[in-house]
Amino acid sequence: MCSTMTFSTDESPLPPRFSRYTSATMKTIHRSLFALPLLTTAALGAGAFYGDPPDATHPWAIHDMNRPQPPRVEPGTNGSPPSDAIVLFSGKPEEIEKWISDKNGESTKWVVKDGALQCVPGSGYIRTKEEFADCQLHIEWAAPAKVEGDSQGRGNSGVFLMGAVEVQVLDNYNNPTYPDGFASSIYGINPPAANPLRAPGEWQSYDIVFRRPVFKDGKEVDPGYITVFVNGVLTQDHTPLEGGGGHMKRSSPKPFPEKGPLKIQDHGNPVRFRNIWYRPLPKRFVEGGEYSRMSEEATAKKRAEIAKGIREDAAKLQGNAKMLRLFESLCYAENEDAKHTAMLMLGAFVTDAKNTPDVKIESKKGEILNVTKALRYLTKFKFLPEDIAAKKDLESIVKARDWEKKK
Ligand code: MG
Repeated sequence: MCSTMTFSTDESPLPPRFSRYTSATMKTIHRSLFALPLLTTAALGAGAFYGDPPDATHPWAIHDMNRPQPPRVEPGTNGSPPSDAIVLFSGKPEEIEKWISDKNGESTKWVVKDGALQCVPGSGYIRTKEEFADCQLHIEWAAPAKVEGDSQGRGNSGVFLMGAVEVQVLDNYNNPTYPDGFASSIYGINPPAANPLRAPGEWQSYDIVFRRPVFKDGKEVDPGYITVFVNGVLTQDHTPLEGGGGHMKRSSPKPFPEKGPLKIQDHGNPVRFRNIWYRPLPKRFVEGGEYSRMSEEATAKKRAEIAKGIREDAAKLQGNAKMLRLFESLCYAENEDAKHTAMLMLGAFVTDAKNTPDVKIESKKGEILNVTKALRYLTKFKFLPEDIAAKKDLESIVKARDWEKKK
């Protein structure tokens, strides 16, 4: 909670849009808001006219309650997938149907044994029937407990994102090899930053964040990245894909298809896999050619959409709440009708405040302070002219009654 925040009405931390309610109703709302964890931010006061407004590449204000709440995902327990995961293998024999031979697209000869999907050497790679691209992938694997071979010959397999980028699977517990072919290397691209492997025969977990390369009009706008945690330890930190890597040859940037299968390698060792799931990731802001930042065009479009939603909300409200929502909409996009209506309502509000006799003015303190605060914000960020008469009128009422006196 921001320590500089001030509450204007009977110490209520509710945003101004709630100001149409009576004090008793507000107490009820206040209680119910605190009972709902998702609304706690609202209860803490991050309402309209609070943080810095939207700008050319940020469609939302700082601490903007118009911004959508993050979608609820039930986390897994004891290693189970989260609620929105797409499960590719959880240990059931029938899940072999989700995989096919990469060689001929027919049923694979890999087997499900003791809840694990096991490579049958010589049978070839497998791939998912399902195709996807940007994802969070979880996969667990175990090299054979009986140590055979060395370097690239010991417990070798591989997880191929979109069938193209190999995150190496290799028993490197006590087994040196070329570093860019090490377990959790991006094969032929980048060695892992650490070797946190457990002993052969034990289960190892990979948690991978994968972003495919994005090209626009033949030009690379995003090289694609991969991040890997091995047994909870970071080994690849947003490593650029450089075209995807490979064996012996240096790869160079190239466009990827929209989606592809997940492949697992047969490298001649009976490596086992279990608990394989992924979550598709949201799109990146690559419109306009800039990564991780919205283009001005996309921002303007989003701001217009937010403003429209706020005006629609305002249409359902009355009085001050309506007026303040209409003013709020102007912070996202100009709209003559909204501004005209809000200014008319403001004029009526100020006239009423000025004509309210002293004995009754205290009952309007909260509303007057809320509107004053809104006008200060709107003028500070130039959504309204600085010398607007309504602001001066309300500030003189506030000052005359010493309503903002520091305690
Ligand atoms: Mg491999």
